[in-house]
Order: sequence, then structure tokens, then C-alpha cells
Amino acid sequence: MNPLEHKISEIKEKKIYKKNFCLLAIKNNFHYTALPGQFIHVKTEDVFLRRPFSIAKYSDKNLSVLFQIKGKGTFSLSRKNPGEKIDIIGPVGNSFPYEKFKGDIVIAAGGIGISPMIFLASVLIKNKKKFSFFYGARNKDLLLDIFLPSGKYPAVVSTDDGSKGEKGKITDKIKDYIKTGKIDAIFASGPYFMLKTISEIAQNANIPCYVSMENRMFCGTGVCQGCVIETAEGFKKVCTEGPIFDAKQIKWKETTYL
Ligand SMILES: Cc1cc2nc3c(=O)[nH]c(=O)nc-3n(C[C@H](O)[C@H](O)[C@H](O)COP(=O)(O)OP(=O)(O)OC[C@H]3O[C@@H](n4cnc5c(N)ncnc54)[C@H](O)[C@@H]3O)c2cc1C
Repeated sequence: MNPLEHKISEIKEKKIYKKNFCLLAIKNNFHYTALPGQFIHVKTEDVFLRRPFSIAKYSDKNLSVLFQIKGKGTFSLSRKNPGEKIDIIGPVGNSFPYEKFKGDIVIAAGGIGISPMIFLASVLIKNKKKFSFFYGARNKDLLLDIFLPSGKYPAVVSTDDGSKGEKGKITDKIKDYIKTGKIDAIFASGPYFMLKTISEIAQNANIPCYVSMENRMFCGTGVCQGCVIETAEGFKKVCTEGPIFDAKQIKWKETTYL
């Protein structure tokens, strides 16, 4: 893994979507190349701790984060404007191990969990890898399907209430799809219980599955151990030993505080 870099970077562009989602393009002044699944740890005004955001779009010029405005940190970040500077650490964490798989990959994303999968899909397109994109949200107001990268790949979009795309849970669509043929791997990002369900589906079908885990994060550099989750190999840090984990290693819980 490359060393972490600490940068003060200029915001190049800002767009607000559906009132509660913000896309910020930031000048990419990292020396090391970022990989899909990695994130940046951002200092925002008004809150003491940095906030983690997956890299959603990446080029030599800019990198973008797409986030839901939830509390103080994300609200203050969404008030920043092009030309202003922000303090970031990154690229943090490991990445989706797409190179290990030769055949068909399923990308599974839920809600704002689409964010790292935009970057992942664009890398798969660039590398001419075969994949299908399954994306769902509770309803159309939480659906960010406009961010599906353009390209020739099968995409299934669903909402739980049927307000856009197919009706029903995206996990059920994936369950049906994997019955139809040989899937090499599933890569997933989304709410905890969606990831838990995908993990069960993958394990029952004997398909390797990697998930992007979230937790409250403190230092984001692997020092404080504040973001650990329980795995078959003991407690692991989401920041530097994740955020991408082999789903079958995770000790899934019945409840989560996030
Ligand atoms: C590795 C990683 C990558 C992430 N990438 C993205 C991303 O690309 N886009 C995005 O919108 N969010 C992402 N998150 C979640 C994001 O960091 C939190 O939503 C953010 O820190 C909330 O900050 P806040 O000050 O606005 O909210 P707070 O006031 O701290 O909390 C508001 C609400 O958000 C929930 N929350 C706080 N921290 C997290 C967290 N880490 N994960 C989930 N929910 C949280 C709280 O439980 C509470 O309900 C990521 C988290 C991790 C760990």
C-alpha cells in the first residue's frame, strides 16, 4: 500500500443533486494513483474529526466525492465552493481486487453506496472487464442512477417502492441473476444490512464476495483502532485493513449503530 499523503486541495466544481447529495470535484494533487474502493479523509469546519468519503471519480486532474448530507460534517462540506481549499488525507485503504477475476463480475450498490462503484465500474470499462451493475435505493429520491458510468454493460436499477426502475430490493434481483450463469465475483457497497444479505447470497452460491465496510472513523491512518470491526481473523481496522473485506470473513451482526 502506498504511503498516505496529506494535501490542501482546491475545490474545482460542486453540484447538488436532489437537495441532499453533493458531488465535489477536488484537484488531484496526490502523487500516488488511487484505486477503486479507496477513500479520502476530509477535514471539515464545525467538526473536530475528519470525515471519510470514497473516491467516486478519478483522473490525473481531479478526484470527486459524492456524499449524502447527513449531519454537521457533510453539511459544512456541502457549503464549500469552487476556488476554496480543503484539507484531505489519502488515498486511504485497500481496493476492490478486480484483477483477480477473469469472468463476469456483479457490482451491487445501494443508495449512496454507489459512490465507490462509479469509480470501480469506470476502471472495469477501461480494462475491458465483463460486469453487470445492480443498483437500488429505497425510492426515487434516494436513487443516484444518473451516476452510472456510460458504457456497454447490463444495468439493473430498482427501488423498493417501484417509484423508478424495477420494483423490489436489488438484493432479490441479484439473487435471481446469479441463478442464470457463472458469476466470478460480487463487489458490493451500501447499507450494512444490504451487504449482510449480499454476503449470504454469495456464500450460498459459493461466489467470492467483497464488500466496502463503513464505521465511525477517527484518525483514518490506522493508529487509533477506533474503526475496528470483528472478522474471522480478529478485529480489523476499516481504515487501513479495509474498507474492502472478504464478506465471508466478517462477523455480521444483528444490529448496527450506524
Ligand atoms: C470508508 C468510508 C467511506 C465512506 N464513503 C462515503 C461516501 O462516498 N459518501 C457518503 O455519503 N458517505 C460516505 N461515508 C459515510 C460518511 O463518512 C458519513 O456519512 C459522514 O462521516 C457523516 O458525517 P456528518 O458529520 O455529516 O454526520 P454525523 O453528524 O457524524 O452523523 C449523522 C448521521 O450519519 C451517520 N454516520 C456517521 N458516520 C457514518 C459512517 N462512517 N458511515 C455511515 N453513516 C455514518 C450517523 O450515524 C448519523 O445517523 C463513508 C464512510 C466510510 C467509513
